[in-house]
Amino acid sequence: MADHLSKIIQEERSPAFDYALLAEKISAIVGRAGVSADGADRLANCRDYWPMGTLWFLEGKAPALPDLVVWPRSTPEVAAVLRLAGENNVPVTPFGEGSGALGGAIPLKGGIVLDLKKMNRVLKLDRDNLMITVEPGLNGARYEEYLNKHGFTGGHFPQSLRCSTVGGWVACRAAGTFSTRYGKIEDMLVSLEAVLPDGTIVHGRNLPRTSTGPRVDHLFLGSEGTLGVITAVTLRIWPCPNEKIYCSYAFETVELALEAIRGLIQAGARPAVVRLYDSAETAHHFPECGEAAGRAILILLFEGDSGIIAAEDRLAAEYAHKQGAVAAGSAPVERWLKTRFNIGISSQLFRQGAVVDTIEVSTSWTNAAPLYHAMQKAMLGVKGTVLASGHYSHVYPEGTALYLTLIGFPPGDKAEYYKRLWSAAMESCLALGGAISHHHGVGLHRGLWMAQEHGTTLEALRRIKSALDPQGIMNPGKLGLEEVEKWRK
Ligand SMILES: Cc1cc2nc3c(=O)[nH]c(=O)nc-3n(C[C@H](O)[C@H](O)[C@H](O)COP(=O)(O)OP(=O)(O)OC[C@H]3O[C@@H](n4cnc5c(N)ncnc54)[C@H](O)[C@@H]3O)c2cc1C
Repeated sequence: MADHLSKIIQEERSPAFDYALLAEKISAIVGRAGVSADGADRLANCRDYWPMGTLWFLEGKAPALPDLVVWPRSTPEVAAVLRLAGENNVPVTPFGEGSGALGGAIPLKGGIVLDLKKMNRVLKLDRDNLMITVEPGLNGARYEEYLNKHGFTGGHFPQSLRCSTVGGWVACRAAGTFSTRYGKIEDMLVSLEAVLPDGTIVHGRNLPRTSTGPRVDHLFLGSEGTLGVITAVTLRIWPCPNEKIYCSYAFETVELALEAIRGLIQAGARPAVVRLYDSAETAHHFPECGEAAGRAILILLFEGDSGIIAAEDRLAAEYAHKQGAVAAGSAPVERWLKTRFNIGISSQLFRQGAVVDTIEVSTSWTNAAPLYHAMQKAMLGVKGTVLASGHYSHVYPEGTALYLTLIGFPPGDKAEYYKRLWSAAMESCLALGGAISHHHGVGLHRGLWMAQEHGTTLEALRRIKSALDPQGIMNPGKLGLEEVEKWRK
C-alpha cells in the first residue's frame, strides 16, 4: 500500500536498486526480525513532527518513504550495516523517536531508515563520578525514571521528554526546560561513541576535560545524522535535589520582566526554570491567576541546596520588585509542572484545517524585546496568521532564547503559506542579528536559511561532511549541506 502514496518531496535515485537482495544481506547482520520492507513499518518511519509532514499525512500523502527499516541492537551491527550501505551507495537516515520538528528524520532519498529504539540499554551508572553511559535509542522518560530510581536526575526535560531519545537529544543539540541550572545537552555531554559512514568506530574519553586537540566525538553534537550514527552517550548526572522553591511575578511589560531576569542571572543566580510569557500566552496558560491578568508572567523554579536556593529566591524578589512586579505565588509554577508535557491541542487544530508551528531563536539581552516585536509583526503580516505569541526561556548571562507559537488558517495552498510564514520569521530574525535556531535544530526546513546564518562557515561544515562521508549516504538533504530539489524557499 505504501508504494501507491504520493511522495511529495522524495528525491528519486537512479538506477533502480534491488532492495530485496540488500534486505537478505542485512538480515544476516541483524536477524530476520531486524529488517523490514513492510508498508506499515516504512510509513511509521517516513516522517517526524515537522508540521508540513503532518499536513501531508492528513491528506494521505507521505513526504518520502524508506525502502527498508532496520533495527540494529549493537554498535558492531550499526557498523556492519553502514559498511554494506556504503558498498551499495544506499542512503541511511538514523531515526530516534521522530519527535524532531524540522523534517530531519525524513528519508529524502529513500534507502534505509536505521531505527535505534532497540539500542536502549543503560551501559554504566558511575555513581562516584556522576556519569551515566547509555545507548542512543533510550527513551527520555525511561532515562529519567532509571536515574530517579537510583537517586539521581539527568536534569534534561525537553517538552518532548516522553517521545524522544537520548541519541536524538545529542544529534539535535537539544535543550530542556531546566537548562538554566543543569545546562543544555552540550553542557551535559561527557563523551560519545559514533560510527562513521565507512564503519569506523570513534569515541571520546570519560574524563572531566581534555586538551588534546579538537574533540572529534563532540562533532556529532548537532550533526543530525549527517556525519554518522551515535551509538553510545555518556552524560553528567546530579543527585536528586532535596529542596525546591516555586515563585512567580507579574510585570506590566515584557521589557520590564526581561530587565529583571537579566539582573538576576548576571548577579549569578541559576534558577532551574525561568519562563517569561507575553500577555497572550499568560492569559492562555494561567487564566486563573488574577495578579497576571493583562500582564506578562515570569515563573521561576529553584532547586538544590536549601541555603543556596533561599538566597536565589530573595535575589529574584529584589530584581522583580525593582521593575514594579507583583508577586503571583507558587500556583502558576505548579500549574506549569502539571501541564508541561501536554501537546494535544496542536493535533486538534491541524484537524480543523489550521497550520500550527513553533519557532525558537536566540539573541542577546539588548535585542531580546526588539526581536520579539519584529518577528511577531512579520509573522502577523502573512495573510492567514491569527496568532503569533511568545515566551522566553533558557536564559544566559549574555542573552536568552525566544520561542514563538504560530497558528494560521491559510487562505490557499498550505505549503505556500507555510513557506511564507517561515520566510517572514527567519528574515526578520536574521535582519536583527538573532540565531535562527536555539534548540530544535535545522533538519530539512531550516536548511533553507543556513547559508545566511553561517556565511563561509557553512562551506567549512560541507568540507567536514565530504571528508567523513564522501559518498553522501548519511541523511542526505539535511542541515543545509546540499540543495533539495523539491523543497525550496
Ligand atoms: C511537542 C514537542 C516538543 C519539543 N520540545 C523540545 C524541547 O523542549 N527541547 C528540545 O531541544 N527539543 C524539543 N523538541 C524537538 C525534538 O524533540 C528534539 O529535537 C529531540 O532531540 C529529537 O529526538 P528524537 O529521538 O525524537 O530524534 P528524531 O526526531 O528521530 O531525529 C532527529 C534527528 O537526529 C538524527 N538522529 C536521531 N538519532 C540519532 C543517532 N543515534 N545518531 C545520529 N543521528 C541521530 C535523525 O537522523 C534526525 O536528523 C520538541 C518536539 C516536539 C514535537
